[in-house]
Amino acid sequence: MNGKMAALGKSPSKIREIFEYSRGRKALLGEENVFDFSLGNPSIPAPDSVNKSIKMLIEERDSVALHGYTSAQGDLGVRKAIAESIEKRFGTAAAADDIYMTCGAAASLTITLKALCEPGDEVVVLAPFFPEYSVFIENAGAVKRVVNTVAPDFNIDFDALESAINEKTVAVLINFPNNPTGAILSADEAKKIGDILTSKSEEFSHTVYLISDEPYRELTYEAASPFMPCFYSNTIVDYSFSKSLSLPGERIGYIFVPSSCENSRDIYAAICGAGRSMGYVCAPSLMQYAITNCVYDTSDISAYNKNRVLFYNALTKMGYTVTKPGGAFYLFVKSPSGDAGEFCERAKKHEILMVPSDSFGIKGYARIAYCVKYEMIEKSIPAFKALMEEYKK
Ligand code: PLP
Repeated sequence: MNGKMAALGKSPSKIREIFEYSRGRKALLGEENVFDFSLGNPSIPAPDSVNKSIKMLIEERDSVALHGYTSAQGDLGVRKAIAESIEKRFGTAAAADDIYMTCGAAASLTITLKALCEPGDEVVVLAPFFPEYSVFIENAGAVKRVVNTVAPDFNIDFDALESAINEKTVAVLINFPNNPTGAILSADEAKKIGDILTSKSEEFSHTVYLISDEPYRELTYEAASPFMPCFYSNTIVDYSFSKSLSLPGERIGYIFVPSSCENSRDIYAAICGAGRSMGYVCAPSLMQYAITNCVYDTSDISAYNKNRVLFYNALTKMGYTVTKPGGAFYLFVKSPSGDAGEFCERAKKHEILMVPSDSFGIKGYARIAYCVKYEMIEKSIPAFKALMEEYKK
């Protein structure tokens, strides 16, 4: 038995742990009496086009072919449709053979990291970061190097980023709109990242790739999130339809290796090899065909925006320190005591479930996933007030 894997299996992520705790509380108190903000599970339905597409496929297509294997890298039709949509939306050249279909962003990331890294290579991540990055980077045999962002807006510390990149760095992994802060990049910041990676690639005489993890790309409320291949040619995009089309359980996403990438054909071959070595071939075929007709669509995110405004305004009015998120569906709240664990444990007594920031690589905050019913946020406000009163005493 692989002891490391057994240990990983026995220590579920903090998010999952709280989610499981919430099940027990809901069974005891009733669903409506637990304010569960633990999981980034979309709360709005997939657009009509998704259901129409699935219905049409089931009614009109030959069912043996529909449920059969596609090519390992994904059906040619869906890869063409995605490539076309990238060209039209972002003006970046894209072809079907630059796309590899995956089981969501988690698979996109594990495959990309495995494809790029040799044992001992370093991958730079910006804290706070999605906790599973640690697992995915270790799985690729690489080492994670953490660069902190700067509170209160969680902006990139460009000097720190520059000094973290060294001769062992193969990639910088970024995620905007961000989980857990909701931060998005400005075009200036995107350009700065590109400039740093270009100069570091020259300094160390090897390409430092940018991995852009973008499951929240379309979930923005004030300004759009820059498409990183437009700012740095050596960008690999890891995408998922989990959030944009509210399909997290269907496990569908893709990797885009632009032809502008250094060694793009070899990188794409390594992506295919990494997918093969981990058994990530032929992403779910029904979903591949279904999303072929929905590549320009997004769930109606106005409900998230309503939640964002209500929650942000209410919490700041009570005295909580919260950064206004520009995207995704998370609020990152500063612990009034400075201790994330203490804050989340105390909140539990008010039936508020949040995720402490420690597993995101930063101390002193709690993540609130506001992809929930508006009424639940309204109902939770007195509980947040009572919680703050305890700190004020
Ligand atoms: N990356 C980030 C930043 C995420 O927040 C998530 C899921 O919440 C993932 C990757 C994994 O997404 P998927 O469910 O598509 O695998």
